[in-house]
Amino acid sequence: MAATFDYIIVGAGSAGCVLANRLSADPALKVLLLEAGGRDDSFLIGMPAGIGRLITPDVNWLYQTEPQALLRDRRMFWPRGKTLGGSSSINAMVHIRGQRQDYDHWRELGNPGWGFEEVLPYFRRSENNETIDGELHGRGGPLNVCERRYTNPLSRVFVDAAAAANAPPMRINRVVPCAGGGNGTSMAGKRLRRLSRTDTTGT
Ligand SMILES: Cc1cc2nc3c(=O)[nH]c(=O)nc-3n(C[C@H](O)[C@H](O)[C@H](O)COP(=O)(O)OP(=O)(O)OC[C@H]3O[C@@H](n4cnc5c(N)ncnc54)[C@H](O)[C@@H]3O)c2cc1C
Repeated sequence: MAATFDYIIVGAGSAGCVLANRLSADPALKVLLLEAGGRDDSFLIGMPAGIGRLITPDVNWLYQTEPQALLRDRRMFWPRGKTLGGSSSINAMVHIRGQRQDYDHWRELGNPGWGFEEVLPYFRRSENNETIDGELHGRGGPLNVCERRYTNPLSRVFVDAAAAANAPPMRINRVVPCAGGGNGTSMAGKRLRRLSRTDTTGT
């Protein structure tokens, strides 16, 4: 007899894995998660510096954009993950949310529940922030977030130079600078080990 499922999720990337994890928490539901790519067991995936090597067809769709008129018709390289964990398995591991006004715009377009204040509790719940627990960040969630352990001196030089050029330092994921939509620089926090989204699904 053919297998039947309550939910079939296509794509085991960031969204698909979280969705599968949440749905399958109900033991009464049968959930099928389909992924076009293979397993995420390459050591390069577990290692932040591996990002520069994860540009191979076994883990990356290696897309090219359409020719861009404003770039003299050049095509741009457009990587996307093709493995368990999707793009979260090949990304730069910077914990950054969308802009407040983007979520508010979604709500204004007729999507109740998608404004920034409404999605913020879910962001907080997803985080295990090692340094901040407050209005904007949470603890106890499945996604570990920590500050970088080492700051390259050149990073400070870059931030200082940007400040001199009127792009002041700012913390990413803070509401106020994002709401202003201004330019600025930030030294991003990095996790030291990549935990693929699939680590939370048990796949
Ligand atoms: C190189 C790179 C660096 C990035 N750096 C950062 C960063 O530092 N910080 C940050 O916040 N974000 C970063 N991102 C973006 C972030 O990783 C993505 O926004 C996020 O992972 C997208 O999640 P998703 O679930 O929408 O898609 P994905 O995670 O891409 O998942 C889609 C999945 O669907 C699968 N799939 C597609 N078609 C099919 C099909 N027909 N059948 C079955 N499976 C299919 C794909 O193989 C893939 O696994 C980066 C992305 C890339 C590519």
